[in-house]
Amino acid sequence: MSMAERVNKIKQTIFNEAIKHQRSPNSITLLAVSKQQSDSAMIEAFQAGIHHFGENYLQEALCKMEKLHHLPIHWHYIGAIQNNKTKLIAEHFEWVHSLCSFKHAESISKARPEALTPMNVCIQVNFDQEASKSGVNPEEVASLAKQIMTLPKLVLRGLMIIPKPLLNTEDQYQSFLRAHELLDTLNQNFNYHLDTLSMGMSNDYPAAIQAGSTIIRIGTAIFGERK
Ligand SMILES: *Cc1c(COP(=O)(O)O)cnc(C)c1O
Repeated sequence: MSMAERVNKIKQTIFNEAIKHQRSPNSITLLAVSKQQSDSAMIEAFQAGIHHFGENYLQEALCKMEKLHHLPIHWHYIGAIQNNKTKLIAEHFEWVHSLCSFKHAESISKARPEALTPMNVCIQVNFDQEASKSGVNPEEVASLAKQIMTLPKLVLRGLMIIPKPLLNTEDQYQSFLRAHELLDTLNQNFNYHLDTLSMGMSNDYPAAIQAGSTIIRIGTAIFGERK
């Protein structure tokens, strides 16, 4: 399959899943996860109609931004955040999905250039308590959210999760539903207007859409296996 065919197939699946679950297909953004992929593959994906790209590694992302600066790409940072990287993240991205600490939130807000709109952020939640993955415990999300709300150059948009891999679609759905329920609880209890659930990857995005995902992060199904 060509890039255009792969992208169209994913878009068709997004459309079908949305309709099946009484959702508007327009409420779901397809984010191409381009870590370890070439500039030329990214250009092909852009030409196939993808305008949002997610990167995990800052230096790699900065190189790509320079080479692809002629394209109106929306850049999302989805990788682990290190203390010494917050300034460059603040200066170069539109979104951060992987926020796990107030310290990082504060640094990003401080370093966000005045001329740019506030950074869109999601709190990464680790529901499965996997030590290998970052993310805050579900019980700690409300207090972190409250702190983030005080920062002038950040807009808290919602939650991001990477659940542990499950094979069965129903199990995947139940797993994603935890994030949807937590988002609803935050909105109800604190009168927030969080509108974003960043969840679903190549192997589980239909179930994520069923559970209310608004940004699906797809790598392999767009670009093929990473090197
Ligand atoms: C790599 C990665 C993805 C994409 O995973 P695929 O299985 O290749 O679609 C999505 N989200 C995050 C945070 C990633 O690191």
